[in-house]
Amino acid sequence: MGRRIGILGGTFDPPHYGHLTLAQEALLHAELEKVIFVPAGQPPHKPGRPVTPAVDRLQMLTLAVAGDERFAVSSWEIEQPGPSFTVNTVSHFRSIYPDAELFFIMGTDSLLEFTTWKQAGEIIRICRVLAGARPGTRKEEVASVLMAMPREWQEKITVMYDVPGFYVSSTLLRERIKQGLPVRYLLPDVVAAYIEEKKLYR
Ligand code: ATP
Repeated sequence: MGRRIGILGGTFDPPHYGHLTLAQEALLHAELEKVIFVPAGQPPHKPGRPVTPAVDRLQMLTLAVAGDERFAVSSWEIEQPGPSFTVNTVSHFRSIYPDAELFFIMGTDSLLEFTTWKQAGEIIRICRVLAGARPGTRKEEVASVLMAMPREWQEKITVMYDVPGFYVSSTLLRERIKQGLPVRYLLPDVVAAYIEEKKLYR
């Protein structure tokens, strides 16, 4: 078996245990060697909301994965000018790992919108997709979106329905922090400490 590498893109504003469990389940499911977390520079899917500076999101993610040698963080998207598109990211990692099997990891909420992504067909040509069931996403909805996709796409997409769901989102965390509510047990303590120190999301 050749090298098998996972790529998990996102805004990570902030990173939380939903992201970490998703990465771990993908790693287990597809027997990946590692998962590379790739924070977006300018996320194209999050218009209308000021996103926390990339350096802070990169730092929070680095803290979040520290101590787990199966996880790595890439600053590639952040270093690129303009909005971050997954098609460019997977092409970049394809050039770094020309012979590896690449897996782009996402939650099922992202999978529902996948067909609207820039050059989705090209993404699917370059890598496989692993989607982890996100609490709240309806199974029937995922199934019907998959059914509407071309056969070649369906063959390269795996939905992991049987994963421990973590009912947390970055949106929820930003709101809780703003309201002064505790976020402990929803994200790593080191990330919470960084948020506190930098007074993020107030
Ligand atoms: P926001 O609330 O700001 O939209 P988010 O929590 O969805 O953020 P992102 O950084 O946008 O986090 O997510 C990156 C990827 O991780 C996406 O593919 C998303 O579906 C997935 N993801 C995020 N949270 C979870 C979760 N709790 N369970 C499974 N997948 C998740």
